[in-house]
Amino acid sequence: MADFGYGSMKSNVCDLDKANRDLALSLSKKEPTFDHCIACGSCTATCSAGKFTNFSFRSLCHAIRRGETASVYKEASKCMLCGKCTLVCPRGVNTRNVILLIREVNQNLR
Ligand code: SF4
Ligand code: SF4
Repeated sequence: MADFGYGSMKSNVCDLDKANRDLALSLSKKEPTFDHCIACGSCTATCSAGKFTNFSFRSLCHAIRRGETASVYKEASKCMLCGKCTLVCPRGVNTRNVILLIREVNQNLR
């Protein structure tokens, strides 16, 4: 293959039929507003924890939907539960409850 000195981004294809979507389905059932997210990023833009860490609620939701849950529990522990994201979310996603439910699942896994 020709070397142009640059490359495309690494492929990040997700096969939803093979991905483990258990956590996403569980969250949708327990907190239906989880499915209302349109990935606008308002939550991430206002996030208190995001000022001090690389935490992003938007990215967290993406990862869960894609079944990429390896780092989800560690990421969710960075949230300070301040609730600012809930206030700015244009879709009424109960973000704090989503975080609490993720932490609850993590507790049950131990
Ligand atoms: S603000 Fe609401 S709709 Fe926008 S990315 Fe965050 S959770 Fe999703
Ligand atoms: S509740 Fe958590 S995710 Fe939402 S703004 Fe506060 S620290 Fe960020």
